[in-house]
Amino acid sequence: MTLLQLEGVSVRFGERAVGYALDRVDLAVAEHEIVCVLGPSGSGKSTLLRVVAGLQPVSGGRVVLGGADQAGVPVHRRGVGLMFQDHQLFPHRDVGGNVAFGLRMRGLARTSYEAQVAELLELVGLPGAQRRAVASLSGGEQQRVALARALAPSPRLLMLDEPLGQLDRGLRERLVVELQGLFSRLGTTVLAVTHDQGEAFALADRVVVMRDGRIAQTGTPLEVWQRPASEFVARFLGFENVVPATVSGRAAATAWGRIPVPEGSPEGPHQLLVRPSGVVLAAAGLPCEVVARTFRGTHVSLRLRPEAGPQLEAECGLAGAPAVGDRVAVTFSPAEVVVLKADTRRDTP
Ligand code: ADP
Ligand code: MG
Repeated sequence: MTLLQLEGVSVRFGERAVGYALDRVDLAVAEHEIVCVLGPSGSGKSTLLRVVAGLQPVSGGRVVLGGADQAGVPVHRRGVGLMFQDHQLFPHRDVGGNVAFGLRMRGLARTSYEAQVAELLELVGLPGAQRRAVASLSGGEQQRVALARALAPSPRLLMLDEPLGQLDRGLRERLVVELQGLFSRLGTTVLAVTHDQGEAFALADRVVVMRDGRIAQTGTPLEVWQRPASEFVARFLGFENVVPATVSGRAAATAWGRIPVPEGSPEGPHQLLVRPSGVVLAAAGLPCEVVARTFRGTHVSLRLRPEAGPQLEAECGLAGAPAVGDRVAVTFSPAEVVVLKADTRRDTP
C-alpha cells in the first residue's frame, strides 16, 4: 500500500530563479517503508520534506497522502511528524513536557497521556526521564527526546531532516541502529533526508539519491552501492576510480589499460568505475607506485600512481601490505567494475 505519492512535484523559488529546487520529482513511499533521501547540500532534500509537510507550496505537481490530494490541506491536518536537524526542544519545559507537547495540543488531559509519555521515553531509551531538565541532557539524549516528541502524536508519516547531523560519529552510528530497530518494531513509515551516506545506508529500506532537485537514482542500499547509476552517484558515494572507457565485449579500453567488464555491460564510450576492492595486487599487471597507505581496521587502503592514467584507490589485506614508495602491479577484477550510464540531465525547463 502506497502511503505517500509525489507526482511531478516542482518547486521554484522566485520568478527569476534559473533552476528549480525540485524539478518534477516522482516518488512513492509504501506503508511501513523507511526511505532515505541522500544528496549534497542544496540538492533539494529539505524542500522535499517541507512540501510533504505542507510548509512549502508547490509550483507544479501534486502530493498525495493516504490516497488524498493534499492541495489546500494545512500542516496540522496532514498527520505527518517532522523532526529537524536543530531539534529545538523547549528549554523551559522538562523532558515529559516536551514529549507531551503534541498530545496537549490535541487537547488531551494529562492523565490520558502520562502513560503514553512514559512508554515513549522507554522506547527511546530514556525510561523515567520525565522530570529531567532539557539542559541536563547530552546531545544524544536531546535527540532522543526530540524523536519521542515527534512520535507522540502517532504520525502516519514520520519525516526526519538530518536528524543526527549534530552528533559525533560514534553516537550517530549507535543511534542509527537503535532507530532502525525502533521503526521496524513500531511499523513507522519514515521519510528521512541526510547528506551522510553511512546514515542513509544503515537506516533505509530504500535510498533516493538527489542532484539539483532531481532524483539521480533510487534503489535498495545494496543496489545503489553495487551499481551506482551514474558518475555523479559513484563520486557522491566516495568512489574515486572513475575513468573514460570504450567498452567492447567483455573488456574496456581505458587510460589504465584493458579492464575486464561484467557480462552484459553496455558497449561504446562510457565512464567506468572500479571499486577499490577490485584493484588487486598481482605479480604482473599495470605497474604502480604506492603514494599513500591508510590503515582502516579491517583492511589497508592504498593510493597508487599508475604509470599511465589517474591515481587509483586500492584495498588490500593487513598482512603484507606494501609501503609508501614501493612499486607494485595491479590487475582488475570484473565483479568490481561498473560501466556507468551518462548523467541524464534534462535541459528543457
Ligand atoms: P538541501 O536540504 O538538500 O540542502 P534545500 O532543499 O534546502 O537543499 O535547497 C534546495 C535549493 O533551494 C537550494 O539551491 C537552496 O538555495 C534553495 N532554497 C531553499 N529554500 C529557499 C528559500 N526559502 N528561498 C530561496 N531559495 C531557497
Ligand atoms: Mg537541508
